[in-house]
Amino acid sequence: MSNHTIFDKILSKEIPAQIVYEDDFVLAFRDIQPQAPVHVLVIPKTKWVGFSALQDAAPLAVGEFFTRIAKVAAQLGLDAKGYRVVLNNGRDGQQTVDYIHAHILGGRGLTWPPG
Ligand code: 5GP
Repeated sequence: MSNHTIFDKILSKEIPAQIVYEDDFVLAFRDIQPQAPVHVLVIPKTKWVGFSALQDAAPLAVGEFFTRIAKVAAQLGLDAKGYRVVLNNGRDGQQTVDYIHAHILGGRGLTWPPG
């Protein structure tokens, strides 16, 4: 597992991203390959490798991360019609970047179940 992932580089502004929200706890930016009209990734500034790592994380820090996901979705105007939050974890979960990230997907009716 790389400890200097593409998201570490986006966080440190080494590589550019379309940032939609930033505060002391998170950075949110548009996915480079959007799967919906709105597709934003939210990463915590405290790095966890993936969702599994949250079992050992400080609950307050996890709470800051999750409240920001909801806040970003609201700021993107998604509250009225709804949206989906996805956290892919590990190989079978199709996680491709070893830095925890929440996908916010919205702007169209999404199908279920996922593949
Ligand atoms: P995962 O499959 O790990 O849950 O999601 C990783 C996401 O990161 C993918 O949706 C992919 O399109 C996105 N992504 C990969 N590289 C970059 C990049 O350099 N910039 C941005 N903005 N998104 C990226």
